[in-house]
Amino acid sequence: MPFSSLGLSPSLLKALETQNYTQPYPIQQEAIPAILNKKDVLGIAQTGSGKTASYVLPILMNLQGNTASKNRHVNVLVLVPTRELAVQVKDVFQLFGSSLPQPIKSLAVFGGVSINPQMMALQGVHVLVATPGRLLELVESNAVHLSDIDTLVLDEADKMLNLGFKEEMNRIFAFLPKKRQNLLFSATLSDDLNTINQILLNNPLVIKIESESDNIDLITQLAYFVTEEKKGPLLRYLIKHNSLKQVLVFTSSVYKADNVADKLRKNGIDASSIHSKKSQGARTELLSKFKTGKLRVLVATDLISRGIDIKFLPHVINYELPRSPKDYVHRIGRTGRAESPGEAISFITPEDQHHFKVVQKKMGKWVTMIDSAGINLKGF
Ligand code: AMP
Repeated sequence: MPFSSLGLSPSLLKALETQNYTQPYPIQQEAIPAILNKKDVLGIAQTGSGKTASYVLPILMNLQGNTASKNRHVNVLVLVPTRELAVQVKDVFQLFGSSLPQPIKSLAVFGGVSINPQMMALQGVHVLVATPGRLLELVESNAVHLSDIDTLVLDEADKMLNLGFKEEMNRIFAFLPKKRQNLLFSATLSDDLNTINQILLNNPLVIKIESESDNIDLITQLAYFVTEEKKGPLLRYLIKHNSLKQVLVFTSSVYKADNVADKLRKNGIDASSIHSKKSQGARTELLSKFKTGKLRVLVATDLISRGIDIKFLPHVINYELPRSPKDYVHRIGRTGRAESPGEAISFITPEDQHHFKVVQKKMGKWVTMIDSAGINLKGF
């Protein structure tokens, strides 16, 4: 589903293209049309799911032509737990807001810094992103009024409660008009949060995005200790010896992806590479062949991995480790589905050992390592 089918304006579509947002993430596919329709939304999703853009884009659309307000009366309030998130969210509003015909002014306010510059900057603001304590100080000194709020967003609501903001949040809610749109995002649901949901949300659309790390326990992970020269024979051994049928192999460069696929083909294994240097048409065709089981091995770079949405993927092999632990989880996450657990294999060279420790630590799981020196790779 492309962004253009979600009801966003041409100027936002252009801005999305400039930012290389080629496809909406699942949360965006569901949330954007609902928020445009002024529905309340409860999004259970973590950072990294694309939740920020899922509310920023439709809010900006809804504000177009609808911002006539009295001075210091903001239209949209986003409550966040931390200064970092406040700045991050404000930046996304500014990034996409600047592309619109009618400029939207957004501001982030948070504690721990002087209040006076924030008071002055509150002139003519449409979207206010705030941590609860500082917002109350500003409201109480009449620097901002919340009686014209059209849309309230609680972002990382679970974290706000964990940080003890419950009382401040309740005080803020009392300043808001009764009729408004409410959007609540949280990584988890707790009893406290359910109470807030019930008070705030009116027949919300509930969107639950499973995080890839939720799937980790469903995946069998294995690592092979191997030298760089033995990686090719080991890959062929694993595919042939274990009769693997549908294998996604990850490399870290386009050159390597082509090279690994070439070698597999030369050894009689049906394989192709997929990466940014191939045309869109070629990529689509390869993916569809792979998905339908007509291509045995697909060798991909990370750049392409986000576009690969396959319900059942039994085997992922990290021919090369990704640099970031997040990418590692993202790569192997494609094999773990409740109904069809898969296997993820990583090739670890002596140089990778330290980095692989970091990856495992971040993931919170230790992976069994097999020394490939004990495998007879002759003839592979
Ligand atoms: P968030 O979960 O909102 O913190 O977003 C996670 C990251 O994904 C951010 O760096 C966004 O810029 C990026 N992002 C969000 N939506 C998309 C998309 N549709 N395509 C590409 N990148 C995206």
